[in-house]
Amino acid sequence: MNVYLDHAATTPLHSEVKSCLISLMDEVNGNPSSIHRYGRDARQKIEEARKNIAAMLGAEPTEICFTSSGTEADNMAVITAVRQNNIRHVLSSPIEHHAVLNTFRQLADNGEIELDFITPDSKGHIDLNEIEDWLKKHPGSLVSLMHANNEIGTMIDLKEVGDLCHSYDALFHTDTVQTIGYFNFNLQDLPVDYLAGSAHKFYGPKGIGFLYHASGCKVGPLIYGGGQEKRLRAGTENVHGIYAMAKALEVMEQSRQEFAPVMKKRKQELIDKISSRIPEAHFNGDPEGQSHYTVVNVTLPKFEGQALFFARLDQAGIAASGGSACSGGGSSHVIETINPEAEGVTVRFSIGTSTTSEEIEYTVDKVMEIMGVTTEVA
Ligand code: PLP
Repeated sequence: MNVYLDHAATTPLHSEVKSCLISLMDEVNGNPSSIHRYGRDARQKIEEARKNIAAMLGAEPTEICFTSSGTEADNMAVITAVRQNNIRHVLSSPIEHHAVLNTFRQLADNGEIELDFITPDSKGHIDLNEIEDWLKKHPGSLVSLMHANNEIGTMIDLKEVGDLCHSYDALFHTDTVQTIGYFNFNLQDLPVDYLAGSAHKFYGPKGIGFLYHASGCKVGPLIYGGGQEKRLRAGTENVHGIYAMAKALEVMEQSRQEFAPVMKKRKQELIDKISSRIPEAHFNGDPEGQSHYTVVNVTLPKFEGQALFFARLDQAGIAASGGSACSGGGSSHVIETINPEAEGVTVRFSIGTSTTSEEIEYTVDKVMEIMGVTTEVA
């Protein structure tokens, strides 16, 4: 049996998105900057996608800028927010994705910002009072905190954090790469200034993302050249990727009512099966609390050798990961921060819209086999 439980790393292309891509590749191949009809057709697809994405997120089309990835959207948000607004002080968290963390570190190393980190608790939650104490000392600054952590799933309340930031004239950036498509967003009502999305996390193609920048919030280019994307991002647009990303989001929006409850059930099944059969297992994050319904992160004690564990899992046909795919299988900065005493193997299982109970059952059986644990349930 082959089981894919690494949807937080990437999701497969949805069949409807694939069909949409293929027909678009047949039909539209002009350069969107060309003035002839081939160009105009391509331009029309981009603007249709922008309008649709904006409408689904409760934003204005002018607030959406297409990028090559979630990483680029995060970079563009934080670098240009800092530079265009002359921000000196930044507050973030040590468990952010490297797309944010390493960008801030670079800015700090360049001497452009003073970077402070909030201290997440052992479940990855942040304390609003700590944010407020910091904001009192640094009004008019930038706060960047992810909506759902990609490794442990712990979530923040965007409204609470955004309101707090705005009450101290601070800008708020959030990395929503793991949550776009999985939750309802109405950006008109959300106090968020910059937000990043990436199509391959919601069943769209890889290599395409977007930055939302609220009207009135300054933003500037990272890539210079032609005048594409209203001079915010030079380079001929990825017309097919952009259009397919809008289609992928549309499919998610239309089917969320059906898939979300099923995925929540699968997540609970996985937690229940692991905890009843491997009582020493430690769940990282806050799986029963404010947590994304796609991710289960568990430390399995008594097993030496992370690499061996994943090799065996792979042999059994199961795809899961030790943490962020971008860390290339290295140790996890998230687990090191929230659970530094963790011993054994840490695995992130991430559920998809079509994950079945049989796949969950098979996975837990194989994990026990690999660990040499008896399969008899008490
Ligand atoms: N932010 C988070 C939370 C992610 O999970 C990822 C991808 O793993 C990224 C940013 C980067 O997105 P992309 O792969 O599109 O560069």
